[in-house]
Amino acid sequence: MARVLVVITPAEGHVNPSLGLVKQLTDNGEEVVYVCTEEYRARIEQTGAQLRTYPFPEDAFSHDPVLKPAEYKHPYQFVYMMVGGIIRKIVPEVLRVTANETFDYLIFDSLMGWGGTIIAEKLGIPAVCSIASFAFVEPLGTDQGLDENRADVKELYEATMKLTRQLADEFQVRAPAMGEIARHAGRLKLVYTSRYFQPQAEKLDDSFIFAGPSIVPRQDAPSFPFEQLHARHRQTVYIAMGTILNKDLDFYKLCFDAFGDLPVTFVLSSGRYTDMTPLKDRIPDNFIVQPYVPQLEMLQHADAFITHAGMNSTSEALYYNVPLVMIPLTSDQPLVAKRVEELGAGIALDKHNLTPAALRAALAEVLSNPAYKRQAHVIGESLRQAGGYKRAADAITNYFATINR
Ligand code: UDP
Repeated sequence: MARVLVVITPAEGHVNPSLGLVKQLTDNGEEVVYVCTEEYRARIEQTGAQLRTYPFPEDAFSHDPVLKPAEYKHPYQFVYMMVGGIIRKIVPEVLRVTANETFDYLIFDSLMGWGGTIIAEKLGIPAVCSIASFAFVEPLGTDQGLDENRADVKELYEATMKLTRQLADEFQVRAPAMGEIARHAGRLKLVYTSRYFQPQAEKLDDSFIFAGPSIVPRQDAPSFPFEQLHARHRQTVYIAMGTILNKDLDFYKLCFDAFGDLPVTFVLSSGRYTDMTPLKDRIPDNFIVQPYVPQLEMLQHADAFITHAGMNSTSEALYYNVPLVMIPLTSDQPLVAKRVEELGAGIALDKHNLTPAALRAALAEVLSNPAYKRQAHVIGESLRQAGGYKRAADAITNYFATINR
């Protein structure tokens, strides 16, 4: 059986989708070494993988302006984040904690981009790319129809390429072009969605495996008083803005103003690192506010989900046929929200023009018009039929068993 190295960026939205796959690989008899941070120990060890850790600030993705700009104004900013925030910081750590070990293949997070190629090359093994969002159909950072002559864009390009050349020197590998840094490299590319939900899927070749979201029970999920949900109101709406940009107290206040007098129970996940003290006297009676909610279970009780349209949250909701009101904030979220809207399973709102009235109107429409629920079900069915982590793990195991025969 193979010895597999898994390297995933220490962010909830990237680690979570990998867990089912890793569990299935260990169940298939593979020996898996997973490199991540201490924060994810419990859920990674549950899969049967051995964890190797390195130091990385727990909330780096919510506090570091390079790792998490409030808004991406140009794709180069994303590429710079990969090179400066992820590759420079994580690749040396991965090589350090795996020194003198041998592996048969690597599974790496697409957010590491070229970093995955460096690790594979240094260890002399083939790689599989794990894509926790939609796959990029066009290479990021090439012509995006934006003005390349703008001074700030030029500066960003030069800073990114300078750092890229420095790192290439350090690791003694070839420096890639801008368009190659974020490209999905690897023999196989595993996408945690369905072909139906992926935009422009027809342009992607057979090395892309669409396995659907990896929904596995999370044994470290906190408890929740589910019995309170239907005690007073028939309907439940779940609100969560993911695990990164979830400290916007103005948004939570807006939700209280918009929904405080509705005959609906609202569950709000306010974020593990959010200080809710300034709002503690303003929480309406129909709200249950918790820093972290067992989201997979909660979605099975929800009539609608108000979300930032993070890929995982969106897929999880659709998997359970829950229609969405989306307020995309950054990264791939506008793209995800657009796709959901295109397929009729939700309504996207503009974060810059958000009012209690707009939020309330969107939620009323999603709750009262059965078309949204129906379309959520259609996408949900495509996600459930995609084969999940079992199909993903089998495709990977079979691929490497065949080429090594
Ligand atoms: N999550 C959760 N409980 C919470 C908030 C988030 O379990 O209270 C999980 C959620 O199920 C999802 C992940 O955290 O798997 C968030 O990932 P997503 O891609 O939606 O957003 P990000 O955190 O990357 O912005």
